[in-house]
Amino acid sequence: MSKKTRVRIAPSPTGDPHIGTAYTALFNYAFARKNKGDFIVRIEDTDQTRLVQGAEEEIYEALDWLGLKADEGPKQGGDFGPYKQSERLSIYKKHAQELVEKGAAFYCDCSSERLQKVREEQQSRGQVPHYDGKCRENPPTQLTKTVVRLKVPKEGETSFEDLIRGKVTFKNSDIDDQVLLKSDGFPTYHLAAVVDDHLMEITDVIRGEDWLSSTSKHVLLYQAFGWELPVFAHLPLLRNPDKSKLSKRKNPVSVLWYRQQGYLPEALRNFLALMGWSMPDGKEIFGLEEFVEKLDLKRVDPAGPVFDNQKLDWLNGEYIRKISETDLASTLIKGKFTKFSEAQMKLVLPLVKERMKKLSEFDQLVSYFFEDSEIAVDLLVQKGKTKEETKKVLEIFEKPLKQLNSWEKDKIEEAIKNKQKEIDWSNSDLFMTLRLAATGSRATPPLFDTLEALGKEKTLARLGQVVAKLSD
Ligand code: GLU
Repeated sequence: MSKKTRVRIAPSPTGDPHIGTAYTALFNYAFARKNKGDFIVRIEDTDQTRLVQGAEEEIYEALDWLGLKADEGPKQGGDFGPYKQSERLSIYKKHAQELVEKGAAFYCDCSSERLQKVREEQQSRGQVPHYDGKCRENPPTQLTKTVVRLKVPKEGETSFEDLIRGKVTFKNSDIDDQVLLKSDGFPTYHLAAVVDDHLMEITDVIRGEDWLSSTSKHVLLYQAFGWELPVFAHLPLLRNPDKSKLSKRKNPVSVLWYRQQGYLPEALRNFLALMGWSMPDGKEIFGLEEFVEKLDLKRVDPAGPVFDNQKLDWLNGEYIRKISETDLASTLIKGKFTKFSEAQMKLVLPLVKERMKKLSEFDQLVSYFFEDSEIAVDLLVQKGKTKEETKKVLEIFEKPLKQLNSWEKDKIEEAIKNKQKEIDWSNSDLFMTLRLAATGSRATPPLFDTLEALGKEKTLARLGQVVAKLSD
């Protein structure tokens, strides 16, 4: 009987929930669903100096928002817990001792001053800093103030198969005698991750490429314990457009920032699924179900995918247009993206829905419908026209508009086009002048729709004000 698939993400609560965590979560989640397995969240909080208050909660919040709920974890519980590493210290200690007894690790009591000196000497010789092996032959009896280090074989190579990259090999001489257990009793990432992945029966370790070299140490640990290796798959790192590693200096990386900006979770998920992955038929817009159905980690492209915000905007716009106006209105209200009322939104949403890329743009896109703003005369006067001509033309159009009994776009259009025959202005000059006079904006939905939504009273009042201004 084949084993049940179990995958995990193992975020450290050291800051804002990272978009890279969302990315690995998505692939792990989809892989679990595809193989009818479990998706687990494990909190790696062993570096106590880097913990950030509230960060753990925000990780759950980000995953919930993205619809990537875990089957087991600190929040859900489960049979393999606790799922927070700070609550598992005795387990790591026991395993570290076991390694020492087996000769695969050793106690080291080098002072930080000595280690610092060794590091500096190595650097001055142009070497990569590494532990110099002083305590490798220490007896397996614990000294005070010691750490436990991995005893990496001096010779040979360590290899493993990566589902995305094929065979990966590291020379043992390039692998450091890594600290596994610190003097404060906390494990380092390497020991804790391997012990937990084994005890939690993780079958497939799907994580970012930045952990590839760590995996060589992990493989040595699995071998020392005599445990079966999981399948490894290292996803490509997300990159800035200049191909450097995605970083907050160049691009926002907090999942909650994307929520705040008004990206829809479905759109962000779809976008992240396109990072390194493409559908066999090349389709770019697809839902989670489809992703789960088609996912094959062997088809992930290891070349670093570029996190292209413009593409995300485009995708988000596509998703916005898929939502009904009623749902869009309630999403805007629930997410606190608007100060306008439901009735106001009903009036203008059909007009601006086509243009919206982010929910946060909504108020700015529609503000001229509800709020008067100062209209700059310079902007209003089109190229090749004078202030006087512009004023005259606006005056000409005031009358037929005032006489309209029913303020509907067809009637407005008819009235404007009838009058247009009397003047010698092109559509573009005339419509832009009327548009600017009525809204103050160059970019609006089609003119007649806009005037209809604006209402007769407001349209005429604004035209009147502009005419008065042009008379100054
Ligand atoms: N704690 C590591 C991180 O923050 C986990 C790496 C792994 O998945 O093994 O990404």
